[in-house]
Amino acid sequence: MNISISQELCRRLINDCYTKLPQESCGMLLGTIKGNHLEVKDFIPISNRSNQPNQHFVMDSQEWVEQWNLTLHNSKEIIGIYHSHPSTPAIPSLEDLTTLWHTLPSYWIISLMNPKAPEVCAYSLFPSTAKNPQHDCGNVLLYEKIPYVLK
Ligand SMILES: [Zn+2]
Repeated sequence: MNISISQELCRRLINDCYTKLPQESCGMLLGTIKGNHLEVKDFIPISNRSNQPNQHFVMDSQEWVEQWNLTLHNSKEIIGIYHSHPSTPAIPSLEDLTTLWHTLPSYWIISLMNPKAPEVCAYSLFPSTAKNPQHDCGNVLLYEKIPYVLK
């Protein structure tokens, strides 16, 4: 799989994450899927409802459903989600890998650990049979970085 995203959109995505600091930002990415090529066309920030929003994100379910309905009406596709890591690298955490987000084609993490050099990484998540080492319920997802082209 490969992805393209415009520099302008990438810059706005990073900017959204900066404006939410010290909290994690999160939201959905909209675009098109043709064969194994994803093109990111837009993103929609969703409110972070975690009770520890500086370390975690939980998307507001009502906003998610409203936006999801809008995408159906506008024949857009949700091609992934994004969230920020305010002070850790752009690598999926164990928490990121014990979710159901592998059901979407891409999973983006924006790290602001180095404020002068934000890092944007896109991943594919896959189900696996590996058990979560911290809890005896649920499995840990596998991940693979997806290359993207800035246009
Ligand atoms: Zn994360």
